[in-house]
Amino acid sequence: MKQSILVVNCGSSSLKLALFDENENKLASAIAERLNGQDAFARIDGDEQAVTLPATADHKQALKALVSAFSDRQLMSTTPTAIGHRVVHGGETFRQAVLIDSDVIKAIKGCADLAPLHNPVNLVGIEATREQFPDTEQVAVFDTAYHQTLAPRAYLYALPESYYRDLNVRRYGFHGTSHFFMAHEAARLLEKTPATTSIISAHLGNGCSITAIKDGLSVDTSMGLTPLEGLVMGTRSGDIDPGLFDYLRSRGMQQAEVHKMLNQKSGLLGISGQTNDMRSLCELADHGHEPSALAIEIFCFRLAKYIGAMMASLSQLDALVFTGGIGENSHRVRKQTVSHLNLLGFDINADMNSHHGRYSDGRIDDTRSRFPILVIPTNEELVIAREAKRLASIA
Ligand code: AMP
Repeated sequence: MKQSILVVNCGSSSLKLALFDENENKLASAIAERLNGQDAFARIDGDEQAVTLPATADHKQALKALVSAFSDRQLMSTTPTAIGHRVVHGGETFRQAVLIDSDVIKAIKGCADLAPLHNPVNLVGIEATREQFPDTEQVAVFDTAYHQTLAPRAYLYALPESYYRDLNVRRYGFHGTSHFFMAHEAARLLEKTPATTSIISAHLGNGCSITAIKDGLSVDTSMGLTPLEGLVMGTRSGDIDPGLFDYLRSRGMQQAEVHKMLNQKSGLLGISGQTNDMRSLCELADHGHEPSALAIEIFCFRLAKYIGAMMASLSQLDALVFTGGIGENSHRVRKQTVSHLNLLGFDINADMNSHHGRYSDGRIDDTRSRFPILVIPTNEELVIAREAKRLASIA
């Protein structure tokens, strides 16, 4: 039977699996949703038949069912050769991916205060796979780790220093696996090495962040202590004036209500009043829905301002890179964003931007542009599989 590397991404009520062979080919992927409720559901991508699950299935049951569905289809032996886990917050403890042992689990638990919605559920996935595959080496890959090269000028807030020293309050940054992948893919497309390539990487999905990458290393990024800071996102506000908290409290709003408003009711959804889905917003805007057009404009304008800000961290720029569901697919967002950056020398080629899939080098910049502009599909699962393979030292 072939070697297989299983990639596990646990959300609060979901479990996503991807399976790779030792040559980095993706063999299969699967998702289980609505876990720990009354209505659990699981399926393998490309397979119409649902994988049978108890209605109240938890992560462990879903994992077992999906792994046996993979092996029924002869995609893997009953045991994967290595397992890679996405873990959201590694604090300052983890600067890179690590083999999981009981000390690592303790340290991930130690970072849970910084990501109470994510780290505990990532640990559920780790415990479930350790129980099911006790002899398989497992690796944790952290969203924050790539940003551990930020200098204090980029990661410290202008707060009394005791907040950093005693409470770990600092900017951590997220989407690290995607930005790392951009650093390497951009270098490959530009026929350079990552260590000599400097880019601005814009990951635009439901969550959005932008990173300045100097000679292959993250030197500034838009997300902060939590993934709420920075760009406008699907349902998250991004940057706001912290004075808003006092104001809303004075108007009788509770902390939990403010948290929910900023994380789940703001961003593209909040401004448009309709949807957080960029594709639907573009359609609505095309049909004259002004709040949707405004949501897209605010999204692009904030992004353009951040691209300008990221240039302060770099001494050369080899490319501006767009990725994520929006960055890869929305020519409208790319065009509208770059239209604010002509003074800095960015210029987009309308034809290449509309048909970027036609060009294998990913370029969408016009000949007049001072800098290359690239569209690169992200592949966080592949990064996790590579790290699992490297650290589990598969022969
Ligand atoms: P992600 O979180 O990376 O899966 O990205 C999700 C976002 O990508 C959603 O806002 C989608 O509407 C957006 N998206 C996906 N395909 C397209 C498309 N063809 N045009 C515009 N936005 C898209």
